[in-house]
Amino acid sequence: MFLSDKFGRRIADLRISITDRCNYKCVYCRTGNEGAGAFYGDLPFADYLRMTRVLVGMGITKVRLTGGEPLLRKGVVEFVRELASLRSGKNGNSEPLDIALTTNGHLLAELAQPLKEAGLTRVTVSMDAVDPDRFARITRVPGGYDRVLAGIRAARRAGLWPLKVNCVLMRGFNEDQIIPFGMFAREEGVTVRFIEFMPLEEDRLWTPTTVVTLEEILTRMAEYRSLVEFPHARSETARRYHFDDGIGEIGIIAPVSHPFCGHCSRIRITSDGKIRTCLFSVWDHDLYAEMRRGASDDELAEFIRGVVMKKEERHHIGEPDFVPASRTMVHIGG
Ligand code: SAM
Repeated sequence: MFLSDKFGRRIADLRISITDRCNYKCVYCRTGNEGAGAFYGDLPFADYLRMTRVLVGMGITKVRLTGGEPLLRKGVVEFVRELASLRSGKNGNSEPLDIALTTNGHLLAELAQPLKEAGLTRVTVSMDAVDPDRFARITRVPGGYDRVLAGIRAARRAGLWPLKVNCVLMRGFNEDQIIPFGMFAREEGVTVRFIEFMPLEEDRLWTPTTVVTLEEILTRMAEYRSLVEFPHARSETARRYHFDDGIGEIGIIAPVSHPFCGHCSRIRITSDGKIRTCLFSVWDHDLYAEMRRGASDDELAEFIRGVVMKKEERHHIGEPDFVPASRTMVHIGG
């Protein structure tokens, strides 16, 4: 039987944070202060593997590795190989799992080919400017831009395709990068996806005015070239567009101005083994504690079913009753 919540949403998509450490300190995510935002730590890969195996048995078909920065974890290639040996059991047969990775790309150039060979299906690289100086100001790490660009190109060569580049737009930092990213999508043959900034940062900088909205992105991009929208399936998180000459694709993920909670199919496991049913959850559920107390796989599955029944109906960003999430993005896994 498929895993579903009390609103009838089927849960098929698992995100696992395999570490909450990160080598970047992006201005919209981390405080930038050494020692701030204490780490929750991570688990041996064998524990994530067991959690995933149980969840795959319950109908999970997609697994995305994230963090923190997932490529900081030694052994990630071997972990992907183990994940690839699990089967989704989708439609009662043995289709391979869809295994994706979200990374800042800093270490991707060396790892793209081994990850592909291990069974990684897709990669999303986060990149918030296509100009080296601006990139360094946002990530607060010098020299990262060239490494990330090399990572994107290596992923492409390795056949990690389709390749997506995620850009979080934040007013005052990078909203002038919209058109350069349109050009980048065309030149590099990648899908650039703009993401609206959400209140999940360590510094609590978010206000409604810091968000560069879907409408604003479309207006700005149209000054460069006309866009044509792909038909939008209601379950898709991103609105997708191509340029009028068919070259280059962009997407916009607009959780703030156009929430898509009604179609959310995700749960997350944090690096310390807690289940989170929403990015904006104000509590989490300790799956790892169940494992430590010796729960069998059936008991873990029962625990997970109970947790999923408590999945929040929607987020309340920008509403008077909004309560900040109990963890910031780097400690959840985006
Ligand atoms: N380190 C990896 C990376 O950079 O892709 C994975 C973790 S990172 C938390 C995952 C994604 O979340 C990145 O694309 C990042 O830009 C995005 N992100 C972080 N904070 C965000 C926020 N407050 N609002 C929207 N997206 C955010």
